[in-house]
Amino acid sequence: MLRRSLLALPVLAAGLPVRATAQATRLPIVASFSILGDMLAQIGGNRLDIRIIAGPDANPHGFQPRPSDIQAMVGARLLARNGLGFDSWFDRLARAAGFAGPIATATDGITPRSMVHSHAGHSHDGASRRTSHRAEAARVPDPHCWQDLRLAQIYVRNLAEALTGADPAGADIYRRNASAYAARLATLDGWIRGQIGTVPEARRKVVTSHDAFGYFGAAYGVTFLAPQGISTETEPSALQVAALIRQIRAEAITAVFVENMANAATLRRLAEEAGVSIRGRLYADSLSAPGGPAATFEAMMRHNVTLVVPAMRGAA
Ligand code: ZN
Repeated sequence: MLRRSLLALPVLAAGLPVRATAQATRLPIVASFSILGDMLAQIGGNRLDIRIIAGPDANPHGFQPRPSDIQAMVGARLLARNGLGFDSWFDRLARAAGFAGPIATATDGITPRSMVHSHAGHSHDGASRRTSHRAEAARVPDPHCWQDLRLAQIYVRNLAEALTGADPAGADIYRRNASAYAARLATLDGWIRGQIGTVPEARRKVVTSHDAFGYFGAAYGVTFLAPQGISTETEPSALQVAALIRQIRAEAITAVFVENMANAATLRRLAEEAGVSIRGRLYADSLSAPGGPAATFEAMMRHNVTLVVPAMRGAA
């Protein structure tokens, strides 16, 4: 988009009004994953030319960037990442691109939950090879903060500040959009509390692929169980799967889901052995493609809650 607009510049400069070149002045920004990309779009609208590296349905854990992704960073005016070890590959990409501009960290100022990091070969921060056994499990920060909509509002504030820093002329627009967006997220937060409130407390349990919903669980009072740890790169052990199957049976858990960006094979086997059906697909760490059920972050949160609530109740 940007490249095409730049090529068109000489023609525009020949006599058309200056505002006709507005396309070419969009601020080039690179976001590490799709949820951040959508948040930036909500705040910056068409002032921004946003390139997302780990796109819809991609798995941002241990993402493998392509050489062309380095190229996208070369002309960028701002990079945006989640932080807390979630997207460290993005930092390596920025170094490879020789990027010297500002990098916004959406989780700045958030005190993270910690979680047990018990899987071998997982590479949130490249430190994975150190922990290869349950007994050696370390506690690491849980990076999935966007799942709590109060924390998502901190993301919005951080991203709006970074945009204002990179593009002071847009300050008013960023402030207005960010404030309207944060208000929508606050309303959505209240809606989620109301929805979860309709489920008897003892039934507020959900099984899903990986530990992406710790913040959601803490914020909205739902217990999430996953055979797979914080990342998605390794298979859970047979022992872990067997323990979870026993728990599903003992507690008559009915809300079992696969995730959009994780391998569903383990969950399907687990559901079959536990004698429960998979109730659908939750969006955990990435959005759906445009036209899908979770094309924006707000749609994603609504989609997940709309699926999870009746499934927890055990309704058909
Ligand atoms: Zn995750």
